[in-house]
Amino acid sequence: MPARNVRAARNGPRRRIGEVAGAAGKLRSGPRPGGRCVGLRAARPRAYGRMDRMSLFRDDGIVLRTQKLGEADRIITLLTRNHGRVRAVARGVRRTKSKFGARLEPFSHVDVQFFARGAELVGRTLPLCTQSETIAAYGSGIVTDYARYTAGTAMLETAERFTDHEGEPAVQQYLLLVGGLRTLARGEHAPHLVLDAFLLRSLAVNGYAPSFDSCAKCGLPGPNRFFSVASGGVVCGDCRVPGSVVPSSEAIGLLGALLTGDWAAADACAARHVREGSGLVAAYLHWHLERGLRSLRYVEK
Ligand SMILES: [Zn+2]
Repeated sequence: MPARNVRAARNGPRRRIGEVAGAAGKLRSGPRPGGRCVGLRAARPRAYGRMDRMSLFRDDGIVLRTQKLGEADRIITLLTRNHGRVRAVARGVRRTKSKFGARLEPFSHVDVQFFARGAELVGRTLPLCTQSETIAAYGSGIVTDYARYTAGTAMLETAERFTDHEGEPAVQQYLLLVGGLRTLARGEHAPHLVLDAFLLRSLAVNGYAPSFDSCAKCGLPGPNRFFSVASGGVVCGDCRVPGSVVPSSEAIGLLGALLTGDWAAADACAARHVREGSGLVAAYLHWHLERGLRSLRYVEK
């Protein structure tokens, strides 16, 4: 019965597994026969005090960050497929024998069950993360290599910065992150190229798509020589504003290739043009994020 509910909820659009009515004491006694509650044993409602309504959610997500909480617990920040960015408390995960905790490390793609107070996953109190299963442990292919690790860290930070509002779905950003970490972990392309492709596409899905061909202001077909962060990419001679720079055509070509996924062209680009392109991406990103990324300065170019 519970297993069927879980499947039904995963296939359904809202992904809410069930709501449980009753006081905390009832929850501790476990699911009643025929009840709709699933996996309540792992939750510890007593820490939340009196409750009158609890909900279970299931979603998959990438672990962005973990923070210590008390002696043995952690706050896990995830970018989930259906609920956007979510913070949740994982209890007991810092004990050395916790397999549950080992699964909830940054870069991990996990299938998670949440236990939340009220009818919404993101509310006044943090939900509890009660179960998790690994979908893909990208961390093993990332943390052992310095260039991959710094690029991956910048990707996680970017994903967090672009998902300001907790609980607000950001499916495209989520899919970009999953794809980017997979590519990074497999070592298919140079880590800083994977990072720059991710940064450009993150800007694009968040409404800041830079133009690398036609003029960002008047639409004059490319190639256009001038690049202006404030104008949104390359601009023509008539539209150029003070502060516009003139990058090499190779660097502009590289950024266009990264944005559209032309990896053959991107992989063939010379190192100095790659560095030049990275500088433009960083400038463009900083302009739109207001604050720069802390992790970007550690990325090896
Ligand atoms: Zn123009």
